[in-house]
Amino acid sequence: MYKANLNFERFDRYFQEFLRKGLVEQPNGSSGKTVYATSVLRGVDLLDSVKKVRDTPKNLLWHKLLTPLPILEFNFEITRRCQSHCIYCHIWQSQSTQDTELSPDEIRSYLKPKELFAHVQSVGITGGEPTLRSDIVDVCQALKEVCPNASLGFPTNCLSKKVVEVAERIRNEVDPTFHVGLSLDGFKEINDFQRGTKGHYEIVWETALQLREAKIPFEFGSTLTKFNINSACQFRNYLLERGFAHSYDIVTESSHYYNNEGSAKDFALTKDDIGTLKKLRMMGVESSYRYFLPKYIENPRQLFKCFSGFASFFLNCQGDVYPCIHLAKKFGNVREQSFSSLWLGDTARQIRKSIHRKDCHCSTDCEMLHYKLLCYPGLIKRVEMLSEHLSARAGRRKKQ
Ligand code: SF4
Ligand code: SF4
Repeated sequence: MYKANLNFERFDRYFQEFLRKGLVEQPNGSSGKTVYATSVLRGVDLLDSVKKVRDTPKNLLWHKLLTPLPILEFNFEITRRCQSHCIYCHIWQSQSTQDTELSPDEIRSYLKPKELFAHVQSVGITGGEPTLRSDIVDVCQALKEVCPNASLGFPTNCLSKKVVEVAERIRNEVDPTFHVGLSLDGFKEINDFQRGTKGHYEIVWETALQLREAKIPFEFGSTLTKFNINSACQFRNYLLERGFAHSYDIVTESSHYYNNEGSAKDFALTKDDIGTLKKLRMMGVESSYRYFLPKYIENPRQLFKCFSGFASFFLNCQGDVYPCIHLAKKFGNVREQSFSSLWLGDTARQIRKSIHRKDCHCSTDCEMLHYKLLCYPGLIKRVEMLSEHLSARAGRRKKQ
């Protein structure tokens, strides 16, 4: 479930932009490429700063026009099969077999035209457990052909014991920047309870050490619940002190992805946990999203205009396309219609309208795309897409 991502890189980009605009100061003795910039940002109203940088009239205009932007990233659910029985995720209850999951050839043939995918920077291969796909290297190959500029990564529960072998093959044969996220929710007892498997803790550590030896970049990812929040600072400190990268998400609900609608609230964080989230933040933030988590828990809402569904999407293993893993509003299915027709279609436009109105909100770092637009204005490309969008609409009106 935890998406291996490029949080460090994202935060660096964010931070660089703040530096350039004079909104934050260069930390003493730092190259500016620092991730743990909390001390510098302390005292700065980061929310305000983000708005100043991000909500340029140009970006807001494009949002208001409900126009799709060049796709910058997407999450691909490679399978819904999973051998883990985590308490907050019921993906493993879904029926899915490799025969029904999108094949490498389908990926090549459906994810077109290539111009739409030329700017994709990151593809999060998610699951289920990705290594249960016996053709995972071929799937990665297909994704890389579609998105030649993207960095690939997947999260894993490590239970298949094939992680290192698969990761080495993908790194050597497909993508030298390939990276892995290892799901670990805390120290042994709490981790094995939340992850639903005895001995999971040791298996993850064994994998981590092997990945380190194989020089494959990885980070630990924790899902925070009411059970592990009290030991979260201690656990994060334990990992950071030993030089491991670590990030965390809070437990959330999703009917079309986690299949946990109505049940995750039993484990959710409350306002009582805001103090701990603030302490976690003071240990270093790798992304603006984590910086704002306490604000979100205090009053859940769309803190920034969200560009999911405008510049990113979620593709499930049966070919359904959604704006993200949380909003269960489907753009369409790539097995039934071309990607460009669903991406530029009226259904997508209506869904973008509701996102623009801030009808939905969530707290997932890998879905909120606000920060990407900081470093990706791409005005010419947007004009091209706007004209494509308008001619597609004009064509549809003519037919009616
Ligand atoms: S959280 Fe990940 S490892 Fe756990 S059941 Fe869901 S998909 Fe499987
Ligand atoms: S705010 Fe959250 S739920 Fe709504 S579209 Fe963005 S990522 Fe999805």
